[in-house]
Amino acid sequence: MSQRINTQFFDTKIEFLKGVGPTRAVTLNKELKLFTFGDLVQYYPFRHEDRTSFQRISELNDTMSAAQLKGRIRSMTVIGEGHKRRLTVEFTDGTGIVEFVFFQSIDWHLKHLKEGGEYIAYGKPQRFGQRFNFSHPDLETINPENEGGGYFQPVYNLTETLRKKYLDSRFLSKIMRSLLEQATPHFRETLPQELVQKYRLLPKAEAMWGIHLPDSQYALTQALRRLKFEELFYNQLRLLKNKLLQKREYPGQVFGNLDMLKTFYQQHLPFGLTNAQKRVLREIHDDFKSGKQMNRLLQGDVGSGKTIVAFISMLMAIDNGAQACLMAPTEILADQHYRGLKPFCDALGINISLLTGSTTKKGRKIVLPGLQDGSIHIAVGTHALLEDTVQFKNLGLCIIDEQHRFGVAQRAKMWAKNETIHPHILVMTATPIPRTLAMTLYGDLDLSIIDELPAGRKPIETVHYFETKRLAMFGRVKEEIRKGRQVYIVYPLIEESEKLDYNNLMEGYESIQRTFPEYHISMVHGKLFPYEKDFEMQRFVKGETQIMVATTVIEVGVNVPNASVMVIESAERFGLSQLHQLRGRVGRGAEQSYCYLMTGVKLSKDTRIRIDTLCATNNGFDIADVDLKLRGPGDLTGTQQSGLMDLLLADLAKDGAVLKAAREAADEILQEDPDLILPKNEPIRSHIDSLRKEETNWSRIS
Ligand code: ADP
Ligand code: MG
Repeated sequence: MSQRINTQFFDTKIEFLKGVGPTRAVTLNKELKLFTFGDLVQYYPFRHEDRTSFQRISELNDTMSAAQLKGRIRSMTVIGEGHKRRLTVEFTDGTGIVEFVFFQSIDWHLKHLKEGGEYIAYGKPQRFGQRFNFSHPDLETINPENEGGGYFQPVYNLTETLRKKYLDSRFLSKIMRSLLEQATPHFRETLPQELVQKYRLLPKAEAMWGIHLPDSQYALTQALRRLKFEELFYNQLRLLKNKLLQKREYPGQVFGNLDMLKTFYQQHLPFGLTNAQKRVLREIHDDFKSGKQMNRLLQGDVGSGKTIVAFISMLMAIDNGAQACLMAPTEILADQHYRGLKPFCDALGINISLLTGSTTKKGRKIVLPGLQDGSIHIAVGTHALLEDTVQFKNLGLCIIDEQHRFGVAQRAKMWAKNETIHPHILVMTATPIPRTLAMTLYGDLDLSIIDELPAGRKPIETVHYFETKRLAMFGRVKEEIRKGRQVYIVYPLIEESEKLDYNNLMEGYESIQRTFPEYHISMVHGKLFPYEKDFEMQRFVKGETQIMVATTVIEVGVNVPNASVMVIESAERFGLSQLHQLRGRVGRGAEQSYCYLMTGVKLSKDTRIRIDTLCATNNGFDIADVDLKLRGPGDLTGTQQSGLMDLLLADLAKDGAVLKAAREAADEILQEDPDLILPKNEPIRSHIDSLRKEETNWSRIS
């Protein structure tokens, strides 16, 4: 648990709580990692059952997600043998009869339920012929506490062991009540009064009651809002404070001289920059002039022209006596950057080198000393650049392309490549991240966005084909090749079954050969040696082959403007962002481009949404929003990002508004009181202290 409430009361062991005791405490320790009052009170329910009112059996209908009944057991019958054995219970409230069915704990139920006994039942009604059926409803004898309804039953995550020992949600809510009764005077307000008022938040203690044992839907909503706000506020406060610290503590090299940039701009740049590119370059240049070290995230949809922004930024560094490096996630990409930038560098008298895993020993003997003595100005490469043997004379700017493949650790490593004065860092990503996620993941980075594609680009036309309509798709592909365009055909790659994928790809390759006997085909997949991959890639780049059959190795960044068709095989096996990335390989020239999504005929609901979204829009940010909703933030980022781990309650896909408010609040407070020394911010200081204490406790345990 990350957000402990720090007073001694909350350090009390749970065995001392009424209704728990030593034996149950051990079980709760083991099963849920709940040790103290503080742990328990922060073990939040994940939903609530609405037990406020009772339904009549005569009123039940198929659309109800749950119903609460009050009535009497008419009869109990055990039917069947072995694993088919089940208990059916007839239950009536005078307005009709329903049936409860139990497949498990039959003997227990036989022992505890009584024919003629009066109970309250809660569960999901399902129509079965004339009657409604409840499978494993929750049954309780009527008592003064439940007979009037009027409450919400919190539902907690449980384990099988807990259930077997009857330490269920009802039990937890009981001990929670007795804990909350004792705890109320001990809760400390963790937010300054000013914020509580301005954002109309519930006081802490009230929110803690409300999240466990709300007395209305409204109370629950308010409790959640308050606690999410708190969580996001501290998350943002930490990120913004880090950002502030970095700015204050780390000087950056000043790159004021722009001669080389001007020469490049006037004489060599083959196109005019878009307004968005210009704006972003100004933002970067402002950082370069500030004397502070830059940490900036550049987001731009596929094809928005990030590479040239990177290059121009590197020119600023070089023009001022520093070196720059550009790190890409794959060799193909590093290679492509190198080849793309080399002619510009030659024209400007800049030395650029490539360093990847397949750079030979001989090659390294040239590159490494060149970087060390400063004669090489730009290093383009893969994570090979991170190795300790790679030393720069004066690294001034490090650009990381397609960040989602790299972690925070790598950023830090590049940063340490210049101990005298840390390099400016520019992280570029083509997977647009929803703003909410960017704020949490990269809240400590400044954000630049290229939200405009170069002029003349036509939106890619995306069409979904079922497997059965393959011939029609091939027909359209042929048409494009006849016009002189090139085509990608991409197959999925699943790590669990490389062999299967390989077979898939090979079969595909052969069928494409049969369908297009008059054309040349390249093939790239993970089993090729880098030089083979490269050879195949280059044939395609040079236009010697018309079709590129590949696994997802071509996913990021590959740039062949003449390619106008992207066929994605088994599209149901790709994530939304990945599909968008793949599609982004076409639509880079002036021609109309197409993306064909091939799938089997049976699609899950999620797949349907993915395919429909893709067909409907080319906007990466819109797509990212849908993706976030479908998959949740954890999956979207691929890695466990520390920025997300302390979010217990907030859901970045849904709580954008609260996040925005929390960030605004954190920002305002830090602007006024960057060191948090004002008396009114005392609650913040002491809460941060308790969080810190918590973190050290945990690091000692794990
Ligand atoms: P990405 O942002 O996906 O990395 P790239 O930098 O690879 O995109 O650019 C995609 C293509 O657009 C390249 O061929 C590049 O030369 C071209 N390009 C970039 N900026 C412009 C521009 N302002 N006008 C025209 N074409 C541009
Ligand atoms: Mg790119």
